[in-house]
Amino acid sequence: MNIDQLREQFPDENACRKFFETVIWQNGRRCPHCDCRVSYLLSGRSSRPGLYECGWCKRQFTVTTKTPMHSTKLPLWKWLLCMYLMVNSSKGVSSVFMGKWLGVAQRTAWKMGHAIRRLMEPGPEGQPPLNGIVELDEKYFGGKPRYEHGVKHKRGKGTEKQGVFVAAERQGQVRSALIDSDQTAELRPLVERFVDRQAHLMTDQNWAYQQIGKDYAAHSWVNHSEKEFVRGEVHNNTAESFNSLLERAKQGVFHFMSPTHLPRYLYEIGFRWAHRVPKEIVTKHRRRKTVMVALPVMDMLRSLLTHAVGKQLRRTLGGGVRVPIAVLSSVN
Ligand SMILES: [Zn+2]
Repeated sequence: MNIDQLREQFPDENACRKFFETVIWQNGRRCPHCDCRVSYLLSGRSSRPGLYECGWCKRQFTVTTKTPMHSTKLPLWKWLLCMYLMVNSSKGVSSVFMGKWLGVAQRTAWKMGHAIRRLMEPGPEGQPPLNGIVELDEKYFGGKPRYEHGVKHKRGKGTEKQGVFVAAERQGQVRSALIDSDQTAELRPLVERFVDRQAHLMTDQNWAYQQIGKDYAAHSWVNHSEKEFVRGEVHNNTAESFNSLLERAKQGVFHFMSPTHLPRYLYEIGFRWAHRVPKEIVTKHRRRKTVMVALPVMDMLRSLLTHAVGKQLRRTLGGGVRVPIAVLSSVN
């Protein structure tokens, strides 16, 4: 679906609001203040379109109340367009470009981006444990250490960089979480939370995985330190390709991902990752090959808005956004 087709489907604010209402209230309209099911549309001349009054607590609300778009002054069309651009891009969109495309200030675009990332957070339906072949990997984030004469800085793990742990089901879902180290004590609870005991783990040679792997149906590993990366079916290329998406998003788009906001960038990349399906294609050498393709845009937009209520962003005094995120957050 291109932007023209999007505009055709949502020609005005009314059409956008109808779409938001249909998805956000797909199980019936509920008052976001008290959860009551009885409410009335306020149709007086002084009330704005889409304003409802609760039959129980008498408070007023619209479809965006208590969502990350709470008390927005922007047209819903701009929100929809922002969502469209985010779910369609492969690496994400910087707030500078988003601002230009939407005709809003960079600061506004930055806040919209984080509000939408909040929508990309996994919903209350939970995250079923990964099964089958599950690849585990870690990635370390952070700027290059400042140059100092005669000092050779360590790279990757063991440095001050922020670690991210990734568990990826082959041709399936991915889960990730922030970590401080790659020690068994830190990794074990994450593996137990994300991965079914019946799974076949594939990792590198990290000692922690040797320990954890004993509790799983099978565990294979490649020895990266001896330049072994693939041995038949044994590799962790899926987890690494998630990591490289993260790296490219950082290098090319977001430049600086602070540990505070990093979990939400993980949600964004995880959201696009999860909204793909395997598709069999025939290559130009007439070989059959399975590739992952993105779901239709409308499906992604619906999925974004499904659990919007209750994900309100809090503004900080400095005009930033604060989201209640646990240190260990995960994506699906
Ligand atoms: Zn109410």
